[in-house]
Amino acid sequence: MAWDVQAYREKFRKEVLPGYYSGKVHLWFLIIITPILFLTPLFFVKFSWTGVILFVASIWYCNFLVYLLHRYILHRKVKGLKWTADMHMHHHLLYTEDKMQYEHIDDIYMLLMPPSIWAYYHFIHVPVNFLIASYFVSTNELLYIISAFYLWQGYYELSHYIEHLPDDHWTMKIPYCKWIQEHHKIHHRLNLMNSKHFDIGIPINDPLLGTKYKEY
Ligand SMILES: [Zn+2]
Ligand SMILES: [Zn+2]
Repeated sequence: MAWDVQAYREKFRKEVLPGYYSGKVHLWFLIIITPILFLTPLFFVKFSWTGVILFVASIWYCNFLVYLLHRYILHRKVKGLKWTADMHMHHHLLYTEDKMQYEHIDDIYMLLMPPSIWAYYHFIHVPVNFLIASYFVSTNELLYIISAFYLWQGYYELSHYIEHLPDDHWTMKIPYCKWIQEHHKIHHRLNLMNSKHFDIGIPINDPLLGTKYKEY
């Protein structure tokens, strides 16, 4: 029997979606906070090629880390972290390859990073990485890294949002947006979600690590 996305969406809205949640507020918060967070450190940097290289390397690192977390934690029942896989499963059951678009703006609760994960990223993950990096690089170079981490987070959210927009949305006329959407759609095929297309932001790890769907 085919999976009934519509019925699951209705059940999700009634039983899981918190009453206080507003997708509109969540989206606007990200649109406003992301440029503030990633541009502020850049305002204080002195140009350095090492900094630029570290900026690019940090984006690559974040993209790779998301691939690993998605592949090995969100699609597996890891002891102590099963709740993250359960949460991610909501995303897959709400959005399947032939029903990728959200219907109600509040449905993006399970499309964007939930507020608890956003808080973890900004208040634990990012500071710990900065602390480690501060032992190896100068303050100026650290500012490049900080900026890259914040830019990545905003990009990640936006790219996943774009991947779930309708086919006739204006962004789909942009070849890059269409490319990442087509790539992500394969991951939302229910029989492939545990084995293919774990890249969400920049789809460069799947072809390198053997998780690209061959007929795509
Ligand atoms: Zn998705
Ligand atoms: Zn997934």
